Parts: sequence; structure tokens; C-alpha cells
Amino acid sequence: MGASLPGRPPFVLRARILTPLAEGGTRYEPDGRLAVDARGAITAVEPWPASPVEPADGTGTPAIDLRPLVLLPGMVDLHVHLPQLPNAGVGAGLDLLTWLRRYIFPLEREFDEAAAEDLAPRAFRAFAAAGTTTVLAYGAVFEASMDASFRAAEAHGIRAILGKVMMDRGSYDDRLPADRVLDTSLRQSADLCARWHGRDEGRLRYAFTPRFAVSCSADMLRESAALARSTGAYWQTHLAEDHGEVREVARLFPEALDYLDVYDRAGGLGPRTILAHAIHLSAREVARLAETDTAIAHCPASNLFLASGAMRLARLRAAGIRVGLGSDVSAGPELSIFANMRAGAYTQSGLRVLGEDDTRPLGPLDWLRLGSLEGARVLGIADETGSIETGKAADLIAVDPRLVAPIEGVDSHDPAEVMSRLAFRPHPDMVRAAWVRGRRLDGPPGVA
Ligand SMILES: [Zn+2]
Repeated sequence: MGASLPGRPPFVLRARILTPLAEGGTRYEPDGRLAVDARGAITAVEPWPASPVEPADGTGTPAIDLRPLVLLPGMVDLHVHLPQLPNAGVGAGLDLLTWLRRYIFPLEREFDEAAAEDLAPRAFRAFAAAGTTTVLAYGAVFEASMDASFRAAEAHGIRAILGKVMMDRGSYDDRLPADRVLDTSLRQSADLCARWHGRDEGRLRYAFTPRFAVSCSADMLRESAALARSTGAYWQTHLAEDHGEVREVARLFPEALDYLDVYDRAGGLGPRTILAHAIHLSAREVARLAETDTAIAHCPASNLFLASGAMRLARLRAAGIRVGLGSDVSAGPELSIFANMRAGAYTQSGLRVLGEDDTRPLGPLDWLRLGSLEGARVLGIADETGSIETGKAADLIAVDPRLVAPIEGVDSHDPAEVMSRLAFRPHPDMVRAAWVRGRRLDGPPGVA
């Protein structure tokens, strides 16, 4: 295996390559050649040439041999809370609203600028080490902590869409008089969007982030959605995660038909809206999500950790709704999207065991697609990232299949078997390197 990994483009890699394809299906090259140009774009994905002479690729760079590592597209995490990372793995089984009050609001209250400057660089390294190259994340309510988080993402190199949490009901921020919370939150969010949305040719983007209907007035939901529309930024919030929350939303918004209708009335639904969870939905809500092309961040490990519910994933996919995966740390215990594929697959198995789902089970290559290309489609950036295809940015990870082998020496060149072990036996060190636009990200340990 090559001793040094390329830090910036151009470069040529020799490795196994496994990727979903935009036109459908999967590509696996047991011995592949990947070329990346000086701009960080993929210019070739092909079998390693049989000719003993290394082909001229215009870069003049000799290929770096990473075999037996597997190159995959970088994973897309559609739902995670930056300030909550230090709490990951704690609080299993509590209901959502109790968990928020006991663990989360005290933690987010501390997420000021200094805390963000300390945590965010480590957080982005941890995402890269988990194999995530694109992240859509919530911050806390404090504007300066979001600037610090964006600065950290800018320096690190990860693709990041971030948003300041907006709450004008039951907020943990008690520094402002109640009658100024709404205007202040809207102004600060608009200012953050103006500073960061589209930075570095779209690598950094903004998401207006009202926490969820329990924490927001109808005015907050409506005005934040209007800002997202007028700026072309995203709008993200939570939907129908657990039963207690659904009941509380019904109490707070008696005029709404159901939970989704609260966001619909606010003008929040549409192709640049990402709703996390979306478990406890009526048939009307599923149809309305499809009709408005609103996308879903499915967070299976979180849903099991807090016993929130079992996602009827097949129902959403059958309706044509765009769905990708989210770690939802720290309601989810792990940043790894691979670990979330496993939790998602077990959830679907559980539903089948209970006789509640008779659709064809998703296979390992379906889960790979959900964790990468479908996540990019949810964000509307699938022309840029989410798969290893010519013309796209080199957003890649290199994974060591030896770390997930059931026993030393066992290997496979069947793509579904390769992916199955990565999803069902993820190892914390299996991601050895990660690149965005061909620039290597700090975090993964590298190759020996
Ligand atoms: Zn969440």
C-alpha cells in the first residue's frame, strides 16, 4: 500500500472502488483507477489498465496504490447537533421531551463562541474520521457560536450546511426579554446566512433552523421559512419523532390538521426543506410530503436509542419522497453513517418480524445509496457529490475492509458482501482517509 496519501489534487489512485451510480445501480472495480484533476474533479473511473505502462493522464502524477482499501463516496449526514457531540451515548430510553430538558438544553446553553471554537474543529475531524464528507447540522441559539462553527468548517474542508437554532418558546437562552426573542433570532439568522451561505463555491451553506414546533411560535416558523425562500437557503426542523412530542404539538396548534400541517401553514414545505425523523405520520401527511417534494432525514439509531418509534421507510420511499440518513447525535449514539445503516436495517427487520412490513428488504447496496447519493439528492447537490463518477467532485473516503473481516484473511470481491460487512460490522478505525474536492480532511488516521 502506498506510504503517503495525497493531500491535494491532482492525483491518481489505484484501489478498489465501490459507488452507487446516478443512473441507478452500483459500480464495483476490484482493481480500479481514479483520476482527480487540479480542481478536485473526478476525470476518470475505470479498471486498472492491463498495459504495464501507466497511462498518461495529463497530471504527470504517478498513481498511489491504496489496495486493498476500498474507495467509497463520502457519506452524507443529514441530521446532527454540533453542541451535543460531547453527550453522545448517554440517555438511552428517555422520552424525547424529558431527554431534551435533562441533557440537551443545559449542554446547548453552554455553547457560546468560546465553546464552539473549542469543539467545532474536533467535531469536523470526528465527522471525517467516521467517513462523513457532507454534514447538515444544527448549532445552538447563539449567533457568535455559529460564526465560530462556520469558521472551523471553512478551515477543515468538510462540506457543511449549518444553522443557528431558533426557539421563541421555552428557550434555554434567558438573556433576552421574551418580546425580543423572535426579532433577534430572525435578524441573527439572516445575518449568518448572508455571511456564510454559498461560501467557498457552495461548500458552506446555511439552513434556517427552527428547532421544532414545540419550541417555536407560528410567527417564528412562518418568518424563518420566508427567509429560507428569499435567500435560497435550506429550512430544517424536526417532525413527528415521538408520541409525546406529537401530542404536545397538537395541544399547541389546535387549528392544524396534524403535525405536518403546522409547517405547511408556515410555508415551510418544499424541495429545500429537510425534516428529521418523520416517523408518526398519517397517510395524509405522507401524501403531502410527496406533493411538496419535502425531504426526510431518517435517523434510525436515534429512533431506537430514545425508543421514539420504528420508521416505515418503505412507505416513504414508495411515495417517492427523498430520504437520506442522519446520525442525529446525540439522540443517536454514533456519528458513523455506517452504524446508522445497521440500525436502519435492524429496524426494518424488526418491522418484518412483527408482520408490519412485507416489502422487499433493502440490501447493503441500497443502504450505501441512502447514506451517500440519496443524501446528496436530499440536499440538491447530487450533481456535485454523493457518488464516484466522472465530472463530480472528488468527495471520497478510503475504507480498510480488513478491519471488518469476520476473521483474519477472509475477503470478498462481491460488492454486496463488501458493503454488507461495512454496514453490519463497522469498525471505528475503518475509514483511513477522507477527501472533499480532492483535498484530504484531518481526522481519519491515514495508512501505515
Ligand atoms: Zn435532532
